[in-house]
Amino acid sequence: LALANTGVQSLQPYQAGKPTSELERELGLSNIVKLASNENPLGISNRVKQLLVDELDELSRYPDSNGFYLKTALAQKLTAKAEQITLGNGSNDVLELIARAYVNPEHEVLFSEHAFVVYPLVTKAIGAKAVQVPAKNYGHDLDAMAAAITDRTRLIFIANPNNPTGTFLTSTEIKHFLDKVPNNVLVVLDEAYYEYVIKAERAPSVAWLTHYPNLIVTRTFSKAYGLAGLRVGYAVSSPQVADVLNRVRQPFNCNSLSLAAAETVLDDDDYLTASVEINRVGMLQLTERFDELGLSYIPSKANFVTVDVGRDGAEVYQALLQEGVIVRPIGGYGLPNHLRVSVGLENENQRFLEALCKVLALQ
Ligand code: PMP
Repeated sequence: LALANTGVQSLQPYQAGKPTSELERELGLSNIVKLASNENPLGISNRVKQLLVDELDELSRYPDSNGFYLKTALAQKLTAKAEQITLGNGSNDVLELIARAYVNPEHEVLFSEHAFVVYPLVTKAIGAKAVQVPAKNYGHDLDAMAAAITDRTRLIFIANPNNPTGTFLTSTEIKHFLDKVPNNVLVVLDEAYYEYVIKAERAPSVAWLTHYPNLIVTRTFSKAYGLAGLRVGYAVSSPQVADVLNRVRQPFNCNSLSLAAAETVLDDDDYLTASVEINRVGMLQLTERFDELGLSYIPSKANFVTVDVGRDGAEVYQALLQEGVIVRPIGGYGLPNHLRVSVGLENENQRFLEALCKVLALQ
């Protein structure tokens, strides 16, 4: 059957982190450590757990298609208006909506080398041209990205912090970049890992929306809020852009359990504080040990760190699997000798570090 465009033909299926249950089956072990998908090692909050049980009775009904309560709560938290928010089935859903609503096959979409894999995916799926701009020090080279804008550029994706490198752009750098982007070009500032950045360093990205109607900020409940399996993310934009995104989305793209869980955890400051603190401590545990072992890594502001294992990362990944530890090889992101490791609980980090030493024959 003929495909819609050559972009679709060039796509590979998204490679998610290997599921724990799969490795359990393969190795016949039950104590697998998974540090592969930047998930929250705390597990879901107790308040969410209780709520999900209560919500089960509602499941014969359709969800609230407009996500009224969650949008209202988000608007209050973000000092924005509910009309500026678009909810998605994870922020991936919102990234796709943006591309689908604004980009056609004549357009170019810009993103950085070593950037999130969903950017080329959503671009190629609609047959547009994916333009990858070389990175600088593993992170975005915003000057090169500004220079790469052409008459055909319609959309630019920037992840801050970036996945899989964890690199971070300062508010000054981003603002300087936004000032250079023509206002008919959309800029998506993907802040999936925003909550892990210390408050003093976070960009006032939602406040910027008043100055930059072409800016869209995306965030997620999958990381610091611990709801990856429930799939809830959102965009904050001008009301005009939100109106367009709301027109192209599926009517019930967020399910009832996800909406209720997101609303509950958004109000749970203790959970968020605990998530961020566990990450801070775990990040130090990992990086201090890398330093001791003489392994270089890319300093990260997110909930994962990318370490140079000095040889083929895919092989080290396979060897770690045999030790019951799942991490992420990132050769597909142009980093063949690096592994991306999500920050886990202390004992999980320790298991990973011990397995890594064994596999790399380090002391
Ligand atoms: N953006 C970035 C940069 C990410 O790393 C991720 C998660 N891997 C996402 C967006 C999407 O997350 P979700 O769809 O779970 O919200």
